[in-house]
Amino acid sequence: MFENSGENKTSLSELGEFGLIDHLTQHFKIIHSTTIKGIGDDAAVIDFKEEKAVVTTDLLVEGVHFDLAYMPLKHLGYKSVMVNLSDVYAMNAKPKQITVSIAVSSRFPLEALEELYSGIELAAKLYKIDVVGGDTTSSTSGLLISITALGGANEQDIVYRSGAKPNDLLVVTGDLGAAYMGLQVLERENEVFKVNPRSQPDLEPYSYLVERQLKPEARQDIPPLLKALELKPTSMIDISDGLSSEIIHLCKSSKVGANLFEEKIPLDPAVISVCEEFEIDSTTIALSGGEDYELLFTIDQGDYEKIKGNPNFTVIGHMTEENEGMHLVTRANQKIPLIARGWNALGKEEE
Ligand SMILES: [Mg+2]
Repeated sequence: MFENSGENKTSLSELGEFGLIDHLTQHFKIIHSTTIKGIGDDAAVIDFKEEKAVVTTDLLVEGVHFDLAYMPLKHLGYKSVMVNLSDVYAMNAKPKQITVSIAVSSRFPLEALEELYSGIELAAKLYKIDVVGGDTTSSTSGLLISITALGGANEQDIVYRSGAKPNDLLVVTGDLGAAYMGLQVLERENEVFKVNPRSQPDLEPYSYLVERQLKPEARQDIPPLLKALELKPTSMIDISDGLSSEIIHLCKSSKVGANLFEEKIPLDPAVISVCEEFEIDSTTIALSGGEDYELLFTIDQGDYEKIKGNPNFTVIGHMTEENEGMHLVTRANQKIPLIARGWNALGKEEE
């Protein structure tokens, strides 16, 4: 969604590639001492000193990962940064630099890219990240965004997916399913709009869900909170594809099984009511919806007191021996094998 629908439409060919990068990144400021050189040379120079560097990258493709019919470009820029930062927090590390590369077709004027970069700039400012490089090129159709994030952590603080042990508690931050249901609401309104372009959608009752879809926040508060609680998880992952597949990732990497208790899965009341409205099972949405960008981790049972009563955390299950398998224990006390069905697969099934 291109917000500036006014008169200003500058063709990208007027600037040329170098002019474009300079123009889009002119307001970015370097704040980290670890950034020795940012944009403006053949490569950035980073000095992590005593810390280990963690590196992660994500590629977002128009029509696959986002739809510009209801995703404003500024939000898209913000969200593409969040997707990467979430992976850095999932290592219990602190993100410090990103590079941003885009491929764009000629249907996007300069003003559209300015909106995209304003979202990237806002995210960089709020999460204290330096934008240290990137590339722009043309695409035959649509928009692609690739962001790489670099972060730092003391070696002993880094948490991998592979450290969970049988009897560890399975813990999740925040609540689940809201982003996916926000997408359902936006898609429904978009269909209504196609039939009747004069219709004015009332998204107010769904504001929490829509915000979780359009402007997700990565959990930058969690690594420092864990440190303050003197708690190092035994394994950790962020929830991008849905609770079910993330639990399976932890189990496979750690060679353990898991029991997830349906009644413990944290759901916002807005998710419960919109699931009733759409006649969808809210547990299915939490398991397979995805894009929550919460953190899922395991802790030793002896550390339970450190998180007990903390509103950021919910214990949703425990790990088991590998040969016991991975299960959802339903409210009716039935054991159902967990299966990996990301939001992509979920979308296809409903078509
Ligand atoms: Mg991840």
